Amino acid sequence: MTKQLNNSYALFGLMVVETVIAGGHLVTATTVRQTSIAIDNGIIVSIGNEEVLPDARRRIDATGQLIIPGVVDPHVHIDEVPGNRAGTYESETAAAALGGVTTVLDFAWQGTDRSIANENSNLYDGIEHKKAKADQAYVDYGLHGVLHRDDPETLAQIDTAVDAGVTSFKLFMSTYDVGVNAGFLDRAFRHIADRNAVAIVHTEEPAVCTAQLDRLREAGKGDAIHYPDSRPDYAEAMGAAAALRLADETGVKYYGVHTSCRKAAEEIERFRRDGSRIRAETCTHYTVLDDSVYEEQGTLPIVAPPIRTDDDREAMFDYLEKGTLSVVSTDHVVYHRAFKEVENWWNSPYGANSVQWSLPLFHQEAVVERGYSYPFLVSVMCTNPAETFGLPQKGTLEPGTDADIVLFDPNESQTVTSSRNASNATFSIYEGREVTGTVTTTLVRGRVIVDDGELVGSAGTGSFVDRDRPQWEKRTTQTATR
Ligand SMILES: [Zn+2]
Repeated sequence: MTKQLNNSYALFGLMVVETVIAGGHLVTATTVRQTSIAIDNGIIVSIGNEEVLPDARRRIDATGQLIIPGVVDPHVHIDEVPGNRAGTYESETAAAALGGVTTVLDFAWQGTDRSIANENSNLYDGIEHKKAKADQAYVDYGLHGVLHRDDPETLAQIDTAVDAGVTSFKLFMSTYDVGVNAGFLDRAFRHIADRNAVAIVHTEEPAVCTAQLDRLREAGKGDAIHYPDSRPDYAEAMGAAAALRLADETGVKYYGVHTSCRKAAEEIERFRRDGSRIRAETCTHYTVLDDSVYEEQGTLPIVAPPIRTDDDREAMFDYLEKGTLSVVSTDHVVYHRAFKEVENWWNSPYGANSVQWSLPLFHQEAVVERGYSYPFLVSVMCTNPAETFGLPQKGTLEPGTDADIVLFDPNESQTVTSSRNASNATFSIYEGREVTGTVTTTLVRGRVIVDDGELVGSAGTGSFVDRDRPQWEKRTTQTATR
């Protein structure tokens, strides 16, 4: 493909393209090589030595830097909690751009927010509501549909959503008011399987979590150090086992979100086989942090599932290596500090922000400290999430795909601080952490939106992305992890 395109440019020798990025090391999910890349009309047109590429109106010097596909973060929450004005599309996609994330997958609820009060609104309203945010977006975005009402009407809404480019559906098996029971999961999985879409489940066994929460409240154990006991690892493993069993029986494509512990990963591995039906992610915080954060930072790192033990953190890498876990996402949620800083942990909302810092943090943890390869980094943060969620134009540097490209300086260090957050979240659970690796430039479909580490693009550069039905059968990428 590359060669053919080069030849065609050679034939039209006078052709001038928009941009050439030269002098850096190009990283894909399988290789690292010193080469250059030509972009025109928002598309990657050719890869090769600069001499053989067409002339360009703009040359970006990438000397000493890695040229990687833009990160695809398939798990972010933007602008969904009523009353919490924190995260807007403008602020959170600006944070994404600064973090080298060029596509995010957010959630559309059955209505314009996650409240279940308005019985008259449906998933289509939720999708339209989020699609209308495109003029605020710095990066591209797609949506998962959330099925949080367990009625037959909900199943009927799946078809409309698939037609609207929303090809994955999230359900909660949880203590939240948006949770559904196993009977509804079974029905929904069959419906989703028939449409060849993807089912995503928040898996924590609800009754166990409720019993533990009640026990801790009665005992007055409101200090954040007790929080992990309220959602134990075995509850996550029990939930995963139940959802995986249903997925296996119904034949649905199943994606396990925010895997946090060894026991849950073991369950996923038990059902995974070749990955054509069962896949799963972990999140940045489960790979970088351990449960000592609750003593150090109180309620700020309250996320669900909880941040676990050091052994669980090791397990995330073991299972990423095996391929049981194939994606690292953020589960980015935006809150002002005041919402999180409450006396008893059970009054804290769940979630923490990290979309701006995920790439440098995971680079530090995986590549710098553990010696994983750059292709490994690119596969779990760019290529695998794009392929898993039906985004063939994203997560790759193949000619013909979108020019979503990040220049990453792997040697420049920086300190994570919420004072540099473009996100409206006013804290970071990584505050003060020193990381090696900095995003210097971000291009979204060929347009420079971050230059020299500063936001230079404008809101509205991003678009809603209509997603295909994912083809997991065609999985080819095999990455050398070291
Ligand atoms: Zn989430």
